[in-house]
Amino acid sequence: MSFKSLGLSSAIISKLRQQDFTAPSPIQSKAIPAILKGQDLLGIAQTGSGKTLAYGLPLLMKLVGDEDYKNRHAKALVLVPTRELAQQVHEVIELYAQNLQRRVKTMAVYGGVSINPQMIGLQNVELLVATPGRLLDLTTSKAIRLSEVRTFVMDEADKLLNLGFKEELNEILKLLPSHKQCLLFSATLSEDVQNIKALLLKDPVIINIIPDKKSVDLIQQESYLVTEEKKGPFLRYLIKEQHLEQVLVFTSSGRNAEKVAHKLMKNGIDASPIHGKLSQGARSSALSRFKSKTLRVLVATDLLSRGIDIPFMPCIINYELPRSPKDFIHRIGRTGRAGSPGLAISILTSEDLHHFKVIQKKMGLWATITETEEINLHGY
Ligand code: AMP
Repeated sequence: MSFKSLGLSSAIISKLRQQDFTAPSPIQSKAIPAILKGQDLLGIAQTGSGKTLAYGLPLLMKLVGDEDYKNRHAKALVLVPTRELAQQVHEVIELYAQNLQRRVKTMAVYGGVSINPQMIGLQNVELLVATPGRLLDLTTSKAIRLSEVRTFVMDEADKLLNLGFKEELNEILKLLPSHKQCLLFSATLSEDVQNIKALLLKDPVIINIIPDKKSVDLIQQESYLVTEEKKGPFLRYLIKEQHLEQVLVFTSSGRNAEKVAHKLMKNGIDASPIHGKLSQGARSSALSRFKSKTLRVLVATDLLSRGIDIPFMPCIINYELPRSPKDFIHRIGRTGRAGSPGLAISILTSEDLHHFKVIQKKMGLWATITETEEINLHGY
């Protein structure tokens, strides 16, 4: 299958070629023609499947061909759960928007930063990527209206609904016209997602992209059994002794992310926490330093494990296990992507063993657990 046969324009295809994207991913080959035809769609797919372009490219194609525009009336709306995902989705789409026959203005709006520049910037915006709270603030102040939206996309719908955005979502739905194309993307088909599907989608095309077992197999798993008080020293031992130069460490709470990052710094390892309670400035700066490899360790909560695309990250460490196996898959899915091998390390205490085995079984994997009593952690 080629991009050309999907109905994309030559301007977009040449940009794809520049990115070295030679063939569409499975979700792209199924979603692009359906979206271009105007169908509603439910895509069960994770980050890494290529879902952003699966909806981003046909959205741009439709916008280029539709010159009818009222100022401050978005024609395409992409709703996402986190600020980071808003920035990332916008960056991906904007790259292709620059290259079209007609300039299509795109923008991302999200909370945690000053609203005024966003209000000004929304002038002439056709495609808007937004988090729910800030979007509502901007509609209240009439900086943008949603009554002309032709296509409405919910990306990471399960996360949007999990994070308690239901009320905001209902408000947003009231502002959208009743006749519109709806596209729903979600990593899981939770009950909430089923409900929103029933509410929003008419005769949808359903695409279920099951995570590629091969990409999970590419990930080398290591797991170590330690006592609770040795977790911190063991983490520092691993980073130093295995010469891990770009590591994403997961904790179960923002507070623990702060503590772990602080301890790493105290021990001479450049680290920064990233979690929902930090200011947007601190989150963006930590993420961009980490992406550009000037920050060695990023200590994150699961909020940040979703949606963030850091290509070819060599290693992730589960300092604390997530409650759900799905989050475990998301976490380890941050590494070993696009054919490059990755390492996923889990640091376990005896209390974690049962839960860890349940997770591995659900994933159809088996990681051997290494005892660490013999390792001398003195000085770490
Ligand atoms: P996403 O699922 O949208 O977060 O995309 C995950 C990664 O796949 C991103 O780094 C994209 O640049 C990359 N990607 C998207 N489409 C393709 C494609 N057709 N071929 C190769 N890589 C792609």
